[in-house]
Amino acid sequence: MNEMSTTMPEKQLRTGAEYKASLKDGRKVWLDGELLGDVFEAPHLAAGIDTLAEMFDDQFTEEHAEATTYYEPKVGKIVTRSWQAPMSPEELVARRKMIEYTSKKTAGTYGRPPDLGPSIAMGLWAFLPTFKSRKSAFDDCQPDFAENIERYMEHGRLNNITCAESLTGPQNDRSQPLAQAASLLRVKKATKDGVYISGAKSVGSIAAQTNELFFTNLAYEGTPPESCIWGSVPMATEGLMLVSRECLSNPGADPFDHPLNHKGEEADQLCIFDNVFVPKERIFNLGDPELVTMYGKTCNWAHWHILTRLMVKAELFVGTAQLVLDVLGTGKIGPVQQLVADLIQYAQTLRAFVLAAEAQAKPTENGVMAPDIPLLTAGRMYSIQHYPTVIHTLQELCGQGLVMRFGRKAFLSPDIGHHLQELLPGHGVSGMEKERVMNFIWDLTTSSHAGRVALFENVNAGAAPMLRTRLFNEYDRSEHVKLARKLAGV
Ligand SMILES: Cc1cc2nc3c(=O)[nH]c(=O)nc-3n(C[C@H](O)[C@H](O)[C@H](O)COP(=O)(O)OP(=O)(O)OC[C@H]3O[C@@H](n4cnc5c(N)ncnc54)[C@H](O)[C@@H]3O)c2cc1C
Repeated sequence: MNEMSTTMPEKQLRTGAEYKASLKDGRKVWLDGELLGDVFEAPHLAAGIDTLAEMFDDQFTEEHAEATTYYEPKVGKIVTRSWQAPMSPEELVARRKMIEYTSKKTAGTYGRPPDLGPSIAMGLWAFLPTFKSRKSAFDDCQPDFAENIERYMEHGRLNNITCAESLTGPQNDRSQPLAQAASLLRVKKATKDGVYISGAKSVGSIAAQTNELFFTNLAYEGTPPESCIWGSVPMATEGLMLVSRECLSNPGADPFDHPLNHKGEEADQLCIFDNVFVPKERIFNLGDPELVTMYGKTCNWAHWHILTRLMVKAELFVGTAQLVLDVLGTGKIGPVQQLVADLIQYAQTLRAFVLAAEAQAKPTENGVMAPDIPLLTAGRMYSIQHYPTVIHTLQELCGQGLVMRFGRKAFLSPDIGHHLQELLPGHGVSGMEKERVMNFIWDLTTSSHAGRVALFENVNAGAAPMLRTRLFNEYDRSEHVKLARKLAGV
């Protein structure tokens, strides 16, 4: 007789507390010129870590288990979805649900949540046969790239680790060839056990708040073999120095005053490599210029993540706009309705790009479903070109309320509180309720932290000029040219 098993597979997942404990590893993080004893000493980073820890705990909840975890038959356990390679259209949609979850959790303000970094490691795995066919250019160090990628995916999946990705080099004199920059990461010494590298990566968003750094150099003209490297190291590796930018959120603030920014932030770090040892097992390319040019293909899922997050955020903007209309009573004014329609158009367009890129997905050489790149690139261009207008529209809907905010203490003050309550009520809501909506929109669109997020959206995986270049180079227009020729008679 066939009996259905009622035993649930074992979960191999980390809790928020375990994730937090894993960051106390002796990593070297500087903030405001000071070396932190540990990353929790910086309130902005610590509050951001609390937000990330919630995501780990959510894996154990009925509400979020489906989005954040999956059953991995290879190990017979439930593991994090962050490290899942989508092998079918259904798995691609399931992974998108995780992106939607992490985006909602942070109001789209974390561009590098726990499912982003692994998507690039997975991008390498998607082209495993290519990596398998390549050899190290260094006789002294001969890693097996494909075996290492495979092992790294397993390590990430089974240990539920987080990683930052840093591909861009630091900003310096751009009139000089990028491949000759002194800051360019390069191998200084190769040994049979691994390589020693020096140089820097920038910007490493969220690096100080994650377990590992996944890095490479972008393909610049004339990049020397010693700078053609993909690799990964734990954050506490000797010689790795993380220099954090100025922090911008409001940790410890009253959640009424800063509904979003009291939760800290994803900070960005300059990652300095001072003779860092990368073990042979953590090297995914060494000296092969062809593999470095695979940025576009391997980062495809990261770019899909970015567009999906922007889609979720655009839908949040629509919801937030409606809240403004509700609390101000402006919903019956025709021109106001039109502004909201503009926001809806933006959100619907992004959704259309995401769904279309998924619908056109094709398997890579290793069978991973890859969303359509030109559709993603066009969608990303559209999203960043319209982002400033969308923010401006949301601000405009708020009028003075976005600036004339007084905070909980003022509303509760025995001297002025009753005046504020009397003078500032909204449409069927108290002055305090109205202000809470405005405080949220301030954090989301106008605060210093929102400024960083807006800059991030504009450039984080290539600014618009670079996306234009990609579209021009990668979009197959041969059929359109044929039609144009035929109709024009040329
Ligand atoms: C907040 C933030 C977070 C980031 N996080 C990450 C991260 O986690 N990982 C990561 O790898 N990178 C990250 N980046 C870096 C991002 O990818 C780069 O900023 C982006 O690729 C642009 O490179 P750049 O800043 O070096 O611009 P620069 O090379 O200094 O150029 C400045 C500007 O000149 C123009 N320009 C320069 N060269 C060209 C060209 N060839 N074609 C067309 N226009 C050009 C562009 O408008 C460009 O923005 C982040 C950036 C920011 C601001």
